[in-house]
Amino acid sequence: MPDYQSIISKHEKLLKENSQHESLDSVSFWLKNLDITTYDLPFIQSILSSGLLDWKNLSTSLPFMQDSMWALFQYDGLFIAGDSKISDYASGEGAILMNQCLSNHAEVIEPVRMDSNDEFCTICLFPQFTRGLKELYAIMVCVLPHEKISSTERDMVTAMLILFHSCFYKNFENIFVEDMMSEQNRVNDEAGRRAVLYQMVQRMQGRIDVNMVLSEMLDSIAILCPDASMELFMSQDHHSDNPRVKPLILQTREDDVRVRTFMDGRLTTRETNRADGEARLEIGFPLGGNQGTYGVLHMLIDKNRISELDKQFVSTLVDTAGTLFENAKLYEQSNSLIRELRLINELTQRVNQSLRLSEIYKFSSEELLNIFKAEYCCILQFNQELDTLEVVSSNMPMMLRRAFEKDYGFGGFVFEKGESLILSDYKVKMHISSIFMEKSGSQSLIATPLVVKGDVTGAILLAHQKSHFFTYNDYRLLQTLSNHIGLSVSNAMLHTEVKRMANRDMLTDLYARHYLDEVIAKRQKRDYCGSLIVIDIDEFKQVNDKYGHQKGDKVIKKVSEIIKSSIRTGDLAARWGGEELAVYLPQVDIEQAITVAERIRRSVEKDTDPSVTVSCGISEWNWMDEKISVDSLFYLADMALYRAKNNGRNQIQVENSVR
Ligand code: GH3
Ligand code: MG
Ligand code: MG
Repeated sequence: MPDYQSIISKHEKLLKENSQHESLDSVSFWLKNLDITTYDLPFIQSILSSGLLDWKNLSTSLPFMQDSMWALFQYDGLFIAGDSKISDYASGEGAILMNQCLSNHAEVIEPVRMDSNDEFCTICLFPQFTRGLKELYAIMVCVLPHEKISSTERDMVTAMLILFHSCFYKNFENIFVEDMMSEQNRVNDEAGRRAVLYQMVQRMQGRIDVNMVLSEMLDSIAILCPDASMELFMSQDHHSDNPRVKPLILQTREDDVRVRTFMDGRLTTRETNRADGEARLEIGFPLGGNQGTYGVLHMLIDKNRISELDKQFVSTLVDTAGTLFENAKLYEQSNSLIRELRLINELTQRVNQSLRLSEIYKFSSEELLNIFKAEYCCILQFNQELDTLEVVSSNMPMMLRRAFEKDYGFGGFVFEKGESLILSDYKVKMHISSIFMEKSGSQSLIATPLVVKGDVTGAILLAHQKSHFFTYNDYRLLQTLSNHIGLSVSNAMLHTEVKRMANRDMLTDLYARHYLDEVIAKRQKRDYCGSLIVIDIDEFKQVNDKYGHQKGDKVIKKVSEIIKSSIRTGDLAARWGGEELAVYLPQVDIEQAITVAERIRRSVEKDTDPSVTVSCGISEWNWMDEKISVDSLFYLADMALYRAKNNGRNQIQVENSVR
């Protein structure tokens, strides 16, 4: 008797081996409770077929099976697989039996002749019911080669039916197991990728240098897609030592994957065929952040070497790198801003230490040489009187104090245009001839106009012998710094002007009396001698009375001009008060002073309109005088003037003697 019990346990063992989740009771319980429903019936053909196949493999060796024929029909009586003779019979004469089984949901066992030539045999139709709701899901048909079946045969058939049922459900459960496994694999895969991504992002985040972020990204993707060839194209003036980083030329064809990716800011692909017929994929991944797109990762790879998931993964990585790149860039920018502010602060502090123009220029050129690591500096100032540009500060002695035509050289160029300039190779682009560049043997230059209170007043030039020495940032920074130098220059000029005004008389532009006092006191300490001429306009009241005060003012101004033009530089003319003027002649004795006074007296008489005359009193001092002071010098001159007035005016008197 066939041992169907052993067949069942063999099957169960097989199930056990196949089931990877046997140990997981809950999963196993869940699986066991899974069932097909009425709605699934039209779709279970393949499970039926594979269940039947497994069943057949398990049972073929049984002697019982050699004598019997088997066939499987689905829930609506349609033939699935098995003996074709049964199938033929079922679609013909046997249809009644099939219908009977289907409608009654009960087994049908009938002695039949399969065709007219055959002996009688027994056909058994067994409805198969689902394990839960007991729905009819198939009909298993068995044909035994004799009219009557024994109880042993009956047991055997029952065992075979149980085995089929198990095989069917094993296949059914396998679908879920496979699904779960592939889902599990996918999840594992995804988790693996996430872990890799996390590590890569961690590494990239550690990079605050823009180039390092990009290199890290490229290295990571190279590990991920070892079969891909890739390059990174960057749009901005981004310099990198990484040979895989290249500039993005947007002037190339519009259908270029790189250009399209950059323009649209989206992943772009193009498929091409290699010479050997292999499909090749060209992919552009945009590298961007919140503020825009900075570049494109361009990848070339055989189509079958990259999955959708890989693409998504690379995309995520490039997106992350884009954001980190942007952050690193902003960090760099803020750093260079901080550096600029620090430099501005240092420069202005140094330059503002002095209110003297010459010192400001000197400090400026020293600081600029230091900041830009330049080799040569030249600061030019426009000289209005001579209409030339004059070198007011330079570390090249031969340039110092040299004057140039105001349109000569690079200084002239930036002065005239009022614009900055950067030159990376003087030899190659020698549109402008320049003594500064020639004599210093320089190749690189940055130059900027010096602007004071909105007016271009000069130029600053910095040079280096190396070509391509200065960066665009240097060029920009020099512009900023020159503005601050301009401010200091303007302050110094203002200060000089205020000082000048404080020492001057408004009407005549002669020095004020207090200034004359100070100068005389200072000179008396270091000179050997000096003379003072006090000049008073004669009968000036009458001029006022006759022509009015305004005309009187003009006369005072005219007399002052005559005085100024009658003395040398170094001599000091001042308005002593009212219509009284004074001239101090350092290192001049009384004889020479008389000559000067006489020159003034004559010119006034001749050149004033209305014509006026002046009286002069002269005093002198020399190092041998014991009690010499400014006051006594004035006193003596005043006394002499008094005598001149008394003596009839329009004349010169010296202390205690008439001339
Ligand atoms: P003299 O010196 O010859 O003795 O006669 P004077 O008429 O010049 O007499 P005095 O020097 O005493 O008078 C000076 C006059 O000059 C008095 C004043 O009205 C006038 N004066 C002084 N300062 C100014 C000024 O800034 N502008 C004008 N228009 N007149 C002035
Ligand atoms: Mg007077
Ligand atoms: Mg007078």
